[in-house]
Amino acid sequence: MKGYAMLKIGESGWIEKERPACGPMDAICRPLAVAVCTSDVHTLWEGAIGERHNMILGHEGCAEVVEVGSLVKDFKPGDRVLVPAITPDWNSLEAQAGYSMHSGGMLAGWKFSNFKDGVFGEYFHVNDADGNLALLPKNINTVDACMLSDMVPTGFHGVELADVQFGDTVLVIGIGPVGLMAVAGAHFRGASRIIAVGTRKVCREAATGYGADEFISYRDGSIEDQVLAMTGGKGVDKVIVAGGNCNTFESAVKSLKPGGKIGNVNYLGSGVYLNIPRVEWGVGMGHKQLNGGLMPGGRLRMEKLGALVAAGKLDLSPLSTHVFTDFNDLEKALFLMRDKPADLIKPVVKLSD
Ligand code: NDP
Ligand code: ZN
Repeated sequence: MKGYAMLKIGESGWIEKERPACGPMDAICRPLAVAVCTSDVHTLWEGAIGERHNMILGHEGCAEVVEVGSLVKDFKPGDRVLVPAITPDWNSLEAQAGYSMHSGGMLAGWKFSNFKDGVFGEYFHVNDADGNLALLPKNINTVDACMLSDMVPTGFHGVELADVQFGDTVLVIGIGPVGLMAVAGAHFRGASRIIAVGTRKVCREAATGYGADEFISYRDGSIEDQVLAMTGGKGVDKVIVAGGNCNTFESAVKSLKPGGKIGNVNYLGSGVYLNIPRVEWGVGMGHKQLNGGLMPGGRLRMEKLGALVAAGKLDLSPLSTHVFTDFNDLEKALFLMRDKPADLIKPVVKLSD
């Protein structure tokens, strides 16, 4: 089979590989649509998870099942499915402890385009099919379905990590597709005021639609100065970090009230240490919590988030700004994600309606 792969750090291209084999609990799937993620850019061009050779990229897509293992109960060939970016081993001790995303080790629930070939192939392998796949609701199109792999669950996980409560004032740093879903999630959770950080017009328009009230630019001076000026010097209750870098945590801590919480879902592609300011962290005693996490993945989350979209309560159409219809355009889509033209939120390659 053919797939679009990371050849080594900084180099990518089409390769030929054997179609993956199906274990007794697994499924082999054929993509119906796939999306490129900023994480693919960190992996390929920044070498953020280290060197990989001839690894098929991609972890966002929806698919048709073509083969299932003998122990798979709930899926069969021909089923159209949502595929989470994170596919934990649900019988691992880490999953039993509540950290499915770390099943088998730190971040090891993230298998596609990390520990094995991803979804940018003619076929791909899904471990623990019953635990990870979900049926694709009939009224969700294949392009929107791709957003359920990672953008929706990751943005919403940022909201969970920041523990957004009714009436909170929430700062969302970064309004690419992940931050946009964090805005949507904070709005669902009852935030009274959402301040969003990001400059691009297309993202600001989408963020307004998802519930952002005000915007600031990280290019117009420090985020914290702007946040403190907007909140009468008090700061915000919660911060969700979905963009920036290791220095962003300085702004997040300085923007936060004592007792506030930061939820980070940003993939820190470079740098060594996070910058936590001593004084604004209450000289160690400010009760300002920092949680960074990979989204948990799995079937239940896929089914529930899919139900939200199927019920018409979450419109994903603003996210997919660039839709291609030829598998060979995957390379174009990937380079678009790296170059981030001003009108881009998410590039998708649709192979079937
Ligand atoms: P984008 O690159 O599309 O968006 C980044 C956002 O951050 C933009 O709004 C950008 O603003 C803003 N930004 C850039 N630089 C700064 C800065 N210095 N300070 C503050 N804001 C800044 O990214 P995505 O939405 O696609 O992804 C966000 C992150 O989440 C990525 O790192 C991605 O790898 C990660 N991720 C994490 C996952 C997880 O499970 N934890 C899963 C999937 C993705 P502007 O456009 O104006 O420059
Ligand atoms: Zn992703």
